[in-house]
Amino acid sequence: MSNQGQIGKLIVIVAPSGTGKSTMIKRLKIDFPSIVESVSYTTRPMRPGEVDTKSYFFITKEEFTVMRANNEFLEWAEVHGNFYGTSKNFVEKCLNEGMHLLFDLDVQGTDSMKDYFGKKASVIFISPPSVEELEKRLRHRGTENTQVINIRLTNARQELLRKNDFDFLIYNDDIENAYQKLCEITQEILGR
Ligand code: ADP
Ligand code: 5GP
Repeated sequence: MSNQGQIGKLIVIVAPSGTGKSTMIKRLKIDFPSIVESVSYTTRPMRPGEVDTKSYFFITKEEFTVMRANNEFLEWAEVHGNFYGTSKNFVEKCLNEGMHLLFDLDVQGTDSMKDYFGKKASVIFISPPSVEELEKRLRHRGTENTQVINIRLTNARQELLRKNDFDFLIYNDDIENAYQKLCEITQEILGR
């Protein structure tokens, strides 16, 4: 896959689970219709309200293993005990059409994207105000059981150690302030 001569911008959003990135991305896609979100493949169970092929392509572990063996992922990672991968085909098609692409990735996937695309990928880390607040948000969302929430909180503590390693950092304390900051940063990236 070639990343030469690319016109569209690549924006990666990375944040511990429960920070609020899906909430913000949903709004961003409405306010910036020229941005297309990369739909990943995952082996995790579908949550209520999610739509197969829109939220993710929901596949089995066996299907994931085959796709990985066929080199169909630009990057993949095991996150909180499930597999997630970015489709090479999807990204290639969008880049060839000059689209701006948005990725919602974990830290491992973000590092892989930076290795591959370098400065062409702009990374925005969104941090929760605290791990305690993150736990409240995960419990309030109610989509995962206590065991899964605990795994996500343990991973969050590790991911937060990386918050200063990327291009932009936003604290999602007040959602309106954080979203406004995200819009400003997005505008800046698209205008480059
Ligand atoms: P993520 O995609 O990062 O896992 P979500 O967007 O699903 O997180 O948000 C997790 C929960 O926290 C949701 O119930 C969401 O409504 C809530 N939330 C998001 N931002 C804030 C905020 N600034 N203050 C309080 N609750 C928030
Ligand atoms: P969730 O299960 O809450 O949708 O996502 C869990 C984590 O997996 C989040 O940090 C999300 O950003 C990450 N994720 C989603 N899709 C991908 C992907 O294709 N690759 C990688 N590396 N991480 C992903």
